[in-house]
Amino acid sequence: MRTLLADHPLVTHKLTLLREAATDTPTFRTLADELVTLLAYEATREVRVEQVSVATPVSVANGARLCGPKPLIVPVLRAGIGMLDGMTRLLPMADVGFVGMVRDEESLQASTYANRLPTDLTGREVFVLDPMLATGGTLVTVISMLAERGAASVTAICLLAAPEGLLRLEQAFPDDADSPAVRVVTGAVDERLNDKGYIVPGLGDAGDRLFGQI
Ligand code: URA
Repeated sequence: MRTLLADHPLVTHKLTLLREAATDTPTFRTLADELVTLLAYEATREVRVEQVSVATPVSVANGARLCGPKPLIVPVLRAGIGMLDGMTRLLPMADVGFVGMVRDEESLQASTYANRLPTDLTGREVFVLDPMLATGGTLVTVISMLAERGAASVTAICLLAAPEGLLRLEQAFPDDADSPAVRVVTGAVDERLNDKGYIVPGLGDAGDRLFGQI
């Protein structure tokens, strides 16, 4: 598994505003949306393209265009929904699947309550959207579901990551022929998790900050 830390000044600037407890929900949503587009730029660095030439008004230019099979974007409900528009802005042709995961606040174990994924993902590039890589339990489950369906590569885009979650993913998806190529693209790797499984210093509960406490 590879981790890419997108430590661009614009990413850090927006992430700092996002972390602030005083940032209200509308501003939080806008910042999350903008951040995803910046992270998506890094996350799609290896997206599959084919060489093409086009006629310009002057001559012929050699270039590249995205080629099939179509990538799949998978926001992890609920907080990942807040990242979907920012991602589809860069990959408007992608299909979108959904996985719903809920975390038991006592055991910190994640369980699946919704799954709308294609049954066959053979050869496809998948981008998973989950703002907080905390214990890693959610992403291990979701990436395993995608690997079972034959995904060629899985790139998780997370606004923030904890070292504990990155380690868990590395252990679950070693670089070998049995796993798809797994990458994590994140805006920052924070210090640690607290005893409630929250990222420290983090930004609190991403779902609540995006959509309110329900
Ligand atoms: N999920 C969140 O929303 N925040 C955390 O800090 C950890 C998991």
